[in-house]
Amino acid sequence: MTLTYPKTIRNRPRTVIIGAGANGLAIAWRLAQAGCEVDVYDKGAAGGGATWSSAGMLAASAEAEPGEERLVALARESQAMWPGFAAELHAAAGMDPGYRETGLIVAAMNRDEAAKLEFDHNLQRDLGLNTHWLSAAEIRRHEPHLRNGVVGGIHSPGDHQADNRALARALLAAAHNAGVRVHEHTPVQGLELVQGRARGVRVADEVVPAEAVVVAAGAWTPDLAGLPEAVRPPVRPIKGQMLALRMDPDRPLVHHILWAPAVYMVPRPDGRLLIGGTVEERGLNTDMTAGGVYALLEAAWRAVPAIEDLAIDEMWVGFRPGSRDDAPILGDTTVDGLWLATGHHRNGILFAPLTADALSREILSGERIPELAPFRPERFQRESAEAGP
Ligand SMILES: Cc1cc2nc3c(=O)[nH]c(=O)nc-3n(C[C@H](O)[C@H](O)[C@H](O)COP(=O)(O)OP(=O)(O)OC[C@H]3O[C@@H](n4cnc5c(N)ncnc54)[C@H](O)[C@@H]3O)c2cc1C
Repeated sequence: MTLTYPKTIRNRPRTVIIGAGANGLAIAWRLAQAGCEVDVYDKGAAGGGATWSSAGMLAASAEAEPGEERLVALARESQAMWPGFAAELHAAAGMDPGYRETGLIVAAMNRDEAAKLEFDHNLQRDLGLNTHWLSAAEIRRHEPHLRNGVVGGIHSPGDHQADNRALARALLAAAHNAGVRVHEHTPVQGLELVQGRARGVRVADEVVPAEAVVVAAGAWTPDLAGLPEAVRPPVRPIKGQMLALRMDPDRPLVHHILWAPAVYMVPRPDGRLLIGGTVEERGLNTDMTAGGVYALLEAAWRAVPAIEDLAIDEMWVGFRPGSRDDAPILGDTTVDGLWLATGHHRNGILFAPLTADALSREILSGERIPELAPFRPERFQRESAEAGP
């Protein structure tokens, strides 16, 4: 899929963005580069939502699931943007967003798991994705610390990673350098509507006027006051527990992003090994649980036994902004001046470059990108209209 971006700039609206995560900051940066006046509000620290909790995998191929062909095509488009996006951001911010081309390996630890992976691999081949089957000997050549007895797996050489926390810091700096005003620890109390049109937001009991309002509030989107019911997107928090172990950076136990049953491991250049992530429907519950940590460590140890000697560096909880169909919700709404960039679920870091370009160019041109049709807010607005009382 190649998005047909509108080329003409017709408007430079004064814009307020609700949410300073990867997506809100990236949109703000792009709009400010084009000459818009932009304010971004976050109820906490910039980049402190799901963006902070993420694993930063850019795994368009390995993530492919049956029935998600259009989503995979969109994800691949954003993935292809990442090298250029990271280089431009590095230069604009003077900070490295931690884009690293490590590739990804999926390991099967027994014959049942291998049969499931062969099925996944067939789907990936049908979709034209660049993945290769690895024998037991080949997979251990790539990852020598995998448990003896690993049966085989998939190599996805085009799936990489970014350091999500470094990304947020770089986006904040780049947005600031481009003239964006970022207001941290400043919750938006609600959307301000005048005669059914979005005309700003309420902050500290004052109205901040705007010609365009972008909701990039992640898992908290449904809590935003003032959103008319017809455009309130079906987004819910999907809790994930994660932890980081400390490897010797000169002798890492894991070299690629490594997926094994019920767990993934992401090695960072500084020696941290991220282990994630549980998938839980617990609302905004922030507890690290014994069961969650046990399940992650047990699954990681089953794949790479040598992790048992590593120190635990950190543990945390985050909330994926899950939409009803697992796809992002991008674009204008039936409320004039109101835009949504939310619902990125488990791929919001991967989608940040595409979200930023797509939303900013639609806002600047007043035109729609045809290929975004399946991902527009109206797919749910139509549904709720049809549902009746
Ligand atoms: C455990 C875990 C692992 C993940 N792994 C990956 C991965 O490997 N790869 C990947 O691509 N994605 C991954 N994700 C998903 C990814 O992190 C998210 O999709 C992405 O960060 C969403 O970014 P965002 O900017 O849309 O939202 P967020 O980063 O959540 O930002 C939304 C911001 O809005 C602010 N906000 C909300 N309401 C208000 C309000 N009323 N006023 C002001 N501010 C408000 C919040 O404080 C928050 O900072 C993972 C997520 C989790 C939880």
